[in-house]
Amino acid sequence: MIFKSLIAEALDLVYPPKCVFCGAVLERSEDGICEKCMGRLEYLGRHGSFGGEFFEKGYACFDYGGDVRHSIHRFKFGGHKEYAKVYAECLANAAAEHEDVKTCDIVTSTPTNDLNIKKRGFDHAALLAESFARRVGMAYLKTLVKTRKTEAMFGLKPDERRANIIGSIDILPVREQIKGKTVLLIDDIFTTGATASECARVLLSGGASKVFVLTVAKTEK
Ligand SMILES: [Zn+2]
Repeated sequence: MIFKSLIAEALDLVYPPKCVFCGAVLERSEDGICEKCMGRLEYLGRHGSFGGEFFEKGYACFDYGGDVRHSIHRFKFGGHKEYAKVYAECLANAAAEHEDVKTCDIVTSTPTNDLNIKKRGFDHAALLAESFARRVGMAYLKTLVKTRKTEAMFGLKPDERRANIIGSIDILPVREQIKGKTVLLIDDIFTTGATASECARVLLSGGASKVFVLTVAKTEK
């Protein structure tokens, strides 16, 4: 144990832990997010709620902009999978404020196609959802799969996003497990809701009773 903590300390000296949002080197008392960002980044709370088709309601921790945007970009494309644990903590704080989220039966994640998982080295939404589920003591279940490659959503208009995603998501053999259950869908960003709505539609058709959505950030309308 002592040896292990010595290694951890040595690694901290070489690679000091940094704030996931602004990149500042963290003090010993800080965990994942620096004090400055803690004070500066505002949890959206009930202002972070959003609606869409097929799901009951969605909630986001932050607006998608500035350091939050850069941070999520580093997480997804820069190999910073360790950010998932910090984001999970943010999701847990947001979930604690919403009774409907707290009482969901199952946590799941939006699916990513295999090529992107291979490119990034990990399934970012699954990692996020698993970290969150572990943190709050809920059950994580992978329920959805991408059946065809879709174009990157960036730059597409809302109706193009919808056309792009429809029919590209299928349910895994989990119908028995989700039958009559309330499912909480986790993703990193909520944009127009095309993906979340399609995931919710597929989950409902697979037997889920209700779907709620929880994301790290949402784009401003
Ligand atoms: Zn910071």
